[in-house]
Amino acid sequence: LIVLDKVNKWFGPLHVLDNVSLSVAKGEVVVVIGPSGSGKSTLCRAINRLEPINDGTITFDGQALPAEGRPLARLRSEVGMVFQSFNLFAHKTILQNVMLGPVKVRKEKPAVVRDRAMALLERVGIGNQAEKYPAQLSGGQQQRVAIARALAMQPKAMLFDEPTSALDPEMVGEVLEVMTSLAKEGMTMVVVTHEMGFARHAANRVVFMADGQLVESAPPAEFFANPKSDRAKDFLSKIL
Ligand code: ATP
Ligand code: MG
Repeated sequence: LIVLDKVNKWFGPLHVLDNVSLSVAKGEVVVVIGPSGSGKSTLCRAINRLEPINDGTITFDGQALPAEGRPLARLRSEVGMVFQSFNLFAHKTILQNVMLGPVKVRKEKPAVVRDRAMALLERVGIGNQAEKYPAQLSGGQQQRVAIARALAMQPKAMLFDEPTSALDPEMVGEVLEVMTSLAKEGMTMVVVTHEMGFARHAANRVVFMADGQLVESAPPAEFFANPKSDRAKDFLSKIL
């Protein structure tokens, strides 16, 4: 579904994506780990073209990433993204936040979108908070709204960039639970996270990045038991 082939990106002299090739099959869950500054966020952002690349190709569902206009808007709606910060609209209710994309961007009928949005809020466990405003919810609840909002666009894949890093520890679990159930239901997911429990249990594959390079890619059991590169060994020794 997502194929990166020899992707390179520089920020000035800094080589942030160094010949990265990665392919993510439909229904696959890929967890991306690596030290700070290794290019994980840039990789995610490149996949829905929030960040243009300098060299190489990225295709989504068989098509080269569009550069602009309607095709780019369609790509963005097909690839849901959840960040560390939830970025909800503070002056809109939870339900309005979830409905906004489908109604405004896709011009879908509000009545249809409302039913879907409510079903999604139920699914992430906050159906009873629909009429509240973001500030009235906990961080974990807000992040679950952000996930429901991305799902409301009926994406073919979801990208998560450290979705639990900004949360108080007791709220991490509830967000990971939603992500795990999404993974079990067959959603194609690329997840940047430091939650190694999630990587072990929900990922089909762990990808380790360092200095802009994709250093290792292996099933979690294999990666955690037997990391091949020194950089991965060093990284794991610091976080486990
Ligand atoms: P972290 O774990 O801290 O989130 P990361 O692996 O996500 O790190 P990136 O955010 O992808 O790393 O950044 C990769 C490198 O590119 C870093 O050295 C960062 O400072 C640099 N960088 C990121 N965005 C920009 C930008 N807009 N302009 C210049 N340099 C940037
Ligand atoms: Mg990052």
